[in-house]
Amino acid sequence: MRARENSDNPAQGMRAITVSPGISDSARLDDVPEPPAEDGAVLVRTLALGVCATDREILTGIHGSPPPGEHRLVLGHESLGKVIAASAQSGLVPGDLVVGIVRRPDPEPCVACAEGEWDMCRNGRYTERGIKERHGYGAERFRVEPEFAVKIDPDLGILGVLLEPASILAKAWDHTERIGRRARVWQPRTLLVTGAGPIGLLAALMGAQRGLEVHVLDRNKGGPKEAIVRDLGGIYHNDVESLGRLAPDVLMECTGAPAVICGCLGAAAAAGIVCLTGVTEPGKRFDLDIGGLNRTLVLDNSAVFGTVNANRRHYELAAQALARADKSWLERLITRRIPLECWSEALEHRRGDIKVIIDF
Ligand code: BGC
Repeated sequence: MRARENSDNPAQGMRAITVSPGISDSARLDDVPEPPAEDGAVLVRTLALGVCATDREILTGIHGSPPPGEHRLVLGHESLGKVIAASAQSGLVPGDLVVGIVRRPDPEPCVACAEGEWDMCRNGRYTERGIKERHGYGAERFRVEPEFAVKIDPDLGILGVLLEPASILAKAWDHTERIGRRARVWQPRTLLVTGAGPIGLLAALMGAQRGLEVHVLDRNKGGPKEAIVRDLGGIYHNDVESLGRLAPDVLMECTGAPAVICGCLGAAAAAGIVCLTGVTEPGKRFDLDIGGLNRTLVLDNSAVFGTVNANRRHYELAAQALARADKSWLERLITRRIPLECWSEALEHRRGDIKVIIDF
């Protein structure tokens, strides 16, 4: 594939990573038309795109759907770009760094979407850029509605690409704390995060920012993750035994691995909260003492809940969390940067990967 500069000249046409959802290994770098005006009044030049497990699921054909009437989907939901043009009313000016929100409310809209809480959509008719029925941000230019563009601190630079995954954890923490407030007093002290991928490490970061004692469990031995957790002030565990009798007040499950999830249910302290963030493939069965588990959850007032996606408020909370974080720590989360010409390398999972991004 020829190397080409991402210029802002629309006459040149633009490249985008596209896929036929439902067909495995159908992704390619395509020449596509300029983003249509209907996508929004803010025109953005893409700087980087983050890759996650959802993108890999779309590539294998088990997730994702194209816009109605089309066969291909522009991939990409973890965006970072620079505004090329925006209306005066948008509050954005050329040169601003922005990230596009992923989800759009359902057309009805349901009670949640009507309140701007599309992340809590009740009828499942929401759409998601780069995932469900809407083209994504994996193109040299994209358009976005001003209300779905989040401006980020220019000091973050390329680290702004972490905003979308961070928004997922900002929501996870928001909901955990709302559940915590069911009791008049709830003072969590310990956090256990399972999985030291980008989601787990961002969960740990936000736990450390809340002053909690942070434990992270990951099967990785050696490699950078241990030091990354330690430099957050956290304790890294690479086997369950080393957790000893730890019963965390908050347990954030970020592996999506059925065997790990099984161990997490009922593992929190009394009045503890287990937050599930990983999207799993169905089909794995475990022998579970459901009576014993129920007994523990009931007698301990424990809560187990799932969380997905994020609304605008969460993106703003995430932007604040990233702005407060140590930049040199955040930089260590981005372990590979791949030029657009070699995009497919970014989608392969390699040992030692935390966050992989594509440079446009
Ligand atoms: C994205 C979410 C999205 C979810 C389900 C995740 O990878 O970060 O925004 O809602 O996939 O499609």
